[in-house]
Amino acid sequence: MFKQYGYLNKFAKLTPINIIRYKYMVQLAKFKGTALFTGKQLLPESMVLIVSDKGVVLDIVHETAAGDDVQQVNGILCPGFINTHCHLELSHMAGVIPEGTGLPAFLTSVMEKRGQQDPAAQELAMAIAEKAMWESGIAAVGDICNGTASLRQKKESSLYYHSFIECMGFVPTFAQNRYEFSKGVLEQFRTTGLPCSIVPHAPYSVSADLFALLAATPDNTPVSIHNQESAAENMLYKDKTGDFLHFYQHFGMDTSAFQPTGTNSLPAWLPWFKHLPLILVHNTFTQESDLQFTKDNALQTYWCLCPQANLYIENCLPDIPLLRSKGCTITLGTDSLASNHQLSIWQEIQTIRKHFPGIPLEEILQWATFNGAQALGITDLYGSFEKGKRPGVILIDHIESKRII
Ligand SMILES: [Zn+2]
Repeated sequence: MFKQYGYLNKFAKLTPINIIRYKYMVQLAKFKGTALFTGKQLLPESMVLIVSDKGVVLDIVHETAAGDDVQQVNGILCPGFINTHCHLELSHMAGVIPEGTGLPAFLTSVMEKRGQQDPAAQELAMAIAEKAMWESGIAAVGDICNGTASLRQKKESSLYYHSFIECMGFVPTFAQNRYEFSKGVLEQFRTTGLPCSIVPHAPYSVSADLFALLAATPDNTPVSIHNQESAAENMLYKDKTGDFLHFYQHFGMDTSAFQPTGTNSLPAWLPWFKHLPLILVHNTFTQESDLQFTKDNALQTYWCLCPQANLYIENCLPDIPLLRSKGCTITLGTDSLASNHQLSIWQEIQTIRKHFPGIPLEEILQWATFNGAQALGITDLYGSFEKGKRPGVILIDHIESKRII
């Protein structure tokens, strides 16, 4: 196997001539597994993946045409996973918050406890979490940031990160202040050349004024938002009832400006972002009418599922059969170690398969690879075994996923 971390020079040009050069100038690696998933399709075990020592995909050929030195590996070969929702900066909160509290109580704990550890411990926890993501085969991450805590680590990382700079503020009079603060964080990420965009946290934590500011930000794509993670979110918008009122009261927030729309939360805010690709995260309480509204009003929507976090916080799962029946483009995320026991896309897949055994593995693997790369806008390099891409090569079996390149 090749040395880890060596192949990811994100900015090398992969012109056709360079790919031909790779073929003749570098050592090749040829892998044959029990099956080969391309990012879109599961091929039989007779197919061989050929990559360069830099991890560039050169070809997929039948074993009879693969020549010598084919390495037989035990498991399904798969492109690196794309984790479209994570909070690396919460890695130090592993095991801090009990399971099954429901979202409003969970958020209260996160907000009160996230700052209780020193920065060095937080940095160490982030480094350990990132290493685990890498080793389990994650190649790229859509990562939520409330500040710059993860910036230094990302500058040196072998993982691809798109940082979603998250902005929140439910009281309209503070909208401009909150926006300016997050814009400052965004500029720090942009200055270092790291891919990033500024995004709303959730419908229950962002005022209409703040939604308007965020939606008007130029060159800001994609947009990600926590969507319908609890029943309380829809109740708030329907008739201003439910557990979020206790949450606001706990933090002394003035909610007098908020007027319920009489609808679910999604139709109330989505029109602000109808001109941008959207990654909607969780969708645990999304209903058929919301899917129809999105289809009619959004440019392009990705439905990111984080099933283990949903079980951890609310002990329920999104209506995945409904999402599939409506043709939604699904991606997968791990959420954070505050609401998950590990950051592993393969474990998320295992959880989905346990609860929805009828969904073909081939389809779920596409959620975890090609669809995720589409959502982050990185299909030029990631998400599939197509010539010239460098998506990472991972091996999966019944128990685990692990990176081999
Ligand atoms: Zn989250």
